[in-house]
Amino acid sequence: MKQESQNRQPKRMNPYVGLLTGILIILFLNGLIVPTFTGRQIRQADYGTFIAKVDSGLVKEVVIKSGQIYFTAQEDGATFTYQTGATNDPQLVDRLLNAQSPNQDGKITFSQVVPQENSPLLNFILLWVLPGLIFYLIWRQTSKAIQSRMGGGGNFMSFGKSGAKIYADSDVKTTFADVAGQDEAKETLTEIVDFLHNPKKYTGIGASLPKGALLVGPPGTGKTLIARAVAGEAKVPFFAISGSEFVQMFVGMGAAKVRDLFRQANEKAPCIIFIDEIDAIGKRRDTGLGGNDEREQTLNQLLTEMDGFDGRKGVVILAATNRPESLDKALLRPGRFDRRIQMELPDLEGRKAILAVHLKKVKCEKIDMDVVARATAGSSGAELANIVNEAALRAVRMGRGKVTTADLEESVETVIAGAQKKGKVISAGEKKIVSYHEIGHALVAALQSHSAPVHKITIVPRTSGALGYTMQVDKGEQVLMSREDLFNRIATLTGGRAAEEVVLGSVSTGASNDIEQATRLARAMVTRYGMSDKYDMMGLETVNNAYLGGDTSLTCSSETAADIDREVLKMITDAHQKARKLISDNLDIMHEAAAYLLDKETITGDEFMAIVRKHQQ
Ligand code: ADP
Ligand code: MG
Ligand code: ZN
Repeated sequence: MKQESQNRQPKRMNPYVGLLTGILIILFLNGLIVPTFTGRQIRQADYGTFIAKVDSGLVKEVVIKSGQIYFTAQEDGATFTYQTGATNDPQLVDRLLNAQSPNQDGKITFSQVVPQENSPLLNFILLWVLPGLIFYLIWRQTSKAIQSRMGGGGNFMSFGKSGAKIYADSDVKTTFADVAGQDEAKETLTEIVDFLHNPKKYTGIGASLPKGALLVGPPGTGKTLIARAVAGEAKVPFFAISGSEFVQMFVGMGAAKVRDLFRQANEKAPCIIFIDEIDAIGKRRDTGLGGNDEREQTLNQLLTEMDGFDGRKGVVILAATNRPESLDKALLRPGRFDRRIQMELPDLEGRKAILAVHLKKVKCEKIDMDVVARATAGSSGAELANIVNEAALRAVRMGRGKVTTADLEESVETVIAGAQKKGKVISAGEKKIVSYHEIGHALVAALQSHSAPVHKITIVPRTSGALGYTMQVDKGEQVLMSREDLFNRIATLTGGRAAEEVVLGSVSTGASNDIEQATRLARAMVTRYGMSDKYDMMGLETVNNAYLGGDTSLTCSSETAADIDREVLKMITDAHQKARKLISDNLDIMHEAAAYLLDKETITGDEFMAIVRKHQQ
């Protein structure tokens, strides 16, 4: 159940609709619209004309309303509507009663609409309060729109309260069973759960648990998930807030929010506070001039609050980030987030476990978990969850009731390379080039004993723009890569282009992605892995965001930088040379395998290896 300490967002209404309705209501209530005669054209007449028409027996109907007389008269076979001002004529009623009329009973129908005298209170509400309310609503909508455009959230101008949207989820259903792998993280967190269950056990001997633990790891490894699981296991309220929610348009709001958060948490103790993406407020404060005042105040408040509360009361603070290196040192000192829980990308066993957790939620046949787990090396938990979902969608699309291994394999490819591009017409000539290119990769990989065997080769184009690809799958999980491994990998990457050169005698743009990858790999070998002859173990580059793409910056002089380029070039040229040689030495395999691939469009690694072995005997 969700308890919300602040008001829910009111349903958005279009301010113009509100304005229009308001005006209409006011007009209507003020009697400016005459309900009886609306829709007809009203002519003006003077009182004398009215009396004359009554006396001539032309008038059919008379309505007297708020000082006006409306009447219809039949003239030349048509009925017209007139309006005239009412004078204080005491004989009018008699005159109307006695007059002739074209009506069937020969009498004029007439009535007086008593001007609606609302009670003064109602009048006041209708004429003053309601329009006021409408204008207030419009103002609020507009100010919200302005504010959201300026990147803020929460309440406009509410200085008194922080307007924090703080959720205390007191019934979290997530448990450790939902988090597959990550055993080390679970072990550390189990202690916290135990503490929340039974604080006396710890306080009895005077121990106080760490106030805060920091979950660190790449995106999608289950940091948010495991934080929820801690709350679910401990069965305590769970305050979740994202770091960016603290940073507001008005200075001081973030700090107020932090105060609010801790006050509420103290009331609900034992409980868990979870600050997701804490780097949004916890960034180092020394970043030069013109720092973000608001963020710094928020951070200072957070530091103060963390010091201020009693660790024995049972409030545990968890925070998650994928940029630990950017956090302020003060956040990490003992007494604050002094426990660091590392969440890593899952290994083979971890991936199998995560797949199993998510496959439990879908109907499936017996799945060959090993194949899928091997094909997803480097994927995060979130990606694996996505793969399972894609597979389920594919099963539905194919009209099946259950997910199969083939669904999973296809969805792995969908996630890696984009969906199959249906109906894309590729000329026969281009197909031939793609076939040779892909077989080139596969052959170089297969002939180098260190390279991983080929899993699948396909020339079915993908929506990502790939015209085909060769999927390599490691048999075992490799943690360390030798220099030879990396060099062979570069050679494999150049294999596609090498095949085009050797067999077709010309080159195409199809190798752009290979070039990028090969260069990155060669560069890392020179600058970070100390694998060039020239620079020995000198570090030439540092990684900035290890968990977010890992962009790097050089830490050497510009002369060295130029020389690094030469080293990289040499490395790639050597690998390319090797690939070309392997291909020209095995041209018969090239031709047969490429023809086979051209025919089948997708072939398995085993089919390919059969061709290779046939020629090697
Ligand atoms: P993070 O906060 O680290 O970026 P999340 O916790 O938001 O990642 O994970 C996103 C989703 O990925 C989860 O909701 C879950 O479905 C899936 N997931 C990630 N890691 C795991 C895991 N270890 N076990 C099971 N599911 C996982
Ligand atoms: Mg997260
Ligand atoms: Zn290629």
